[in-house]
Amino acid sequence: MENTKNKVVIITGASSGIGEATAKLLAEKGAKVVLAARREERLQAIVKEIEQEGGQAAYIKADVVSAEDMQKLAQFALKQYGRIDVLVNNAGVMPVSRLNEQRVAEWDQMIDVNIKGVLNGIAAVLPTMREQQSGHIINISSVAGYEVNPTSAVYSGTKFAVRAISEGLRKEESPSSHIRSTLIAPGMTESELLNTVTSPEVKAMASHISGLAISPYSIARAIAYAINEPDDTGVNEIVIRPTAQP
Ligand code: NDP
Repeated sequence: MENTKNKVVIITGASSGIGEATAKLLAEKGAKVVLAARREERLQAIVKEIEQEGGQAAYIKADVVSAEDMQKLAQFALKQYGRIDVLVNNAGVMPVSRLNEQRVAEWDQMIDVNIKGVLNGIAAVLPTMREQQSGHIINISSVAGYEVNPTSAVYSGTKFAVRAISEGLRKEESPSSHIRSTLIAPGMTESELLNTVTSPEVKAMASHISGLAISPYSIARAIAYAINEPDDTGVNEIVIRPTAQP
């Protein structure tokens, strides 16, 4: 059963890590991928690589915090490929720290990118998907969306929110407009995510545990599986962590 070929898939945060791996894997499987992030040179290089491998890809610079940028992203996908089959709401930041450190600007950044970014993405594609009476929105949460540890209060808060939003979306849209909703919750994964950490305590801790991290392709394969299932099958939630992660 093949349900990926020629699908138009928008991926936010496609300039590195999980987003980059997802774009490359889906393009290999015949999807038309639309990459978005802020680092344009990265996107340009990844699109070139995909095209050299025979895939179809386009990119646009977009900040998920800007509702306007996200609307432009949806319009760009429609102009390029004529429809929007899947949105992978992947962009995220993780500057974790203890609440007592009062890194208020970083709390705001996590709330803006991880929650509002996801909502801006949903708002940008939902009218088109409703009109099509088909579509698929995949939101990237985290194992931190199920449990809270010291230093992860705000980050976990944003990822719990992503889980609530995905479930709400599923209940509102799946029965009537047939739009599928999938939550992907990765554990430790190789990427550039730890670069967003500024707290010295967390940085020291992270260097000890990051050796456990799995390949971003492990997450990309889960996303590809959810997309490829038949339209009558909603893969609603997948947790993927390193075998050795406690
Ligand atoms: P990376 O840091 O490698 O990727 C994050 C991506 O998000 C980058 O492409 C970055 O691109 C983009 N991004 C950040 N801020 C914005 C913004 N304001 N607008 C648009 N794009 C933005 O990390 P990962 O691949 O690990 O992260 C992907 C997702 O996976 C995140 O939601 C993260 O929370 C989640 N996750 C990751 C885990 C891990 O261990 N790696 C575990 C659990 C969940 P650019 O800077 O070019 O804009």
